[in-house]
Amino acid sequence: MNSKNLKKEEIRGTFDYQKISNQNIIAVKWNDNSIVTICSNYAGAEPLHVVKRYSRREKKNIQVMQPHLINICNSNMGGVDRSDQNISLYRISLRGKKWYFPLISHCIDMCVQNAWQLHKKEGGNFDQLNFRRRIAILLLTQNKKEYTFQQGHSSKNSPQMELRYDRLDHIVSPQDKQTRCGYCHQKTTTRCLKCDVGVHVKCFYDFHTQSRS
Ligand SMILES: [Zn+2]
Ligand SMILES: [Zn+2]
Repeated sequence: MNSKNLKKEEIRGTFDYQKISNQNIIAVKWNDNSIVTICSNYAGAEPLHVVKRYSRREKKNIQVMQPHLINICNSNMGGVDRSDQNISLYRISLRGKKWYFPLISHCIDMCVQNAWQLHKKEGGNFDQLNFRRRIAILLLTQNKKEYTFQQGHSSKNSPQMELRYDRLDHIVSPQDKQTRCGYCHQKTTTRCLKCDVGVHVKCFYDFHTQSRS
């Protein structure tokens, strides 16, 4: 039913829907004061809820039937708005003029935003800018070996420090020359290939999980 006909029915709470059942998608039009249209792959039209609305014609509160998915949409409102707002603050800007660039970058923005929400939920305390900056720095340092930051000798929070604690692909291997262990500072014949730092086997775990000195 198109919106005009639905509106013509003039009974608030009337709704119509169309399903693509093999893909589990439903589109619902619901006549509140105006027509509300919603698509969902999560919830259907049933069960129906009863909500209170003020009727101007009858000058009193009336009860209106409301499809299930519109009900949960209303009660969970705010998530999408917050996401949109956060993304708009630090949106990826691409100079290319290809029409699909924004589609790709928006997906990345959304992933980052969701990850940041999880980060905060788990007790993290980065603001969004710092969170995004960390991702960028880590990706740069992890994917380009020759890319090094000249920031003096591993000040705290330098990218090297981040790599050291990322618990990813650190491998201990024998080395020809003896160097100082990055953890206990005694001479060692093994090193971490990823960190490119001398480290004893016995210090390997501590070196990658805690800081000393
Ligand atoms: Zn050591
Ligand atoms: Zn390492």
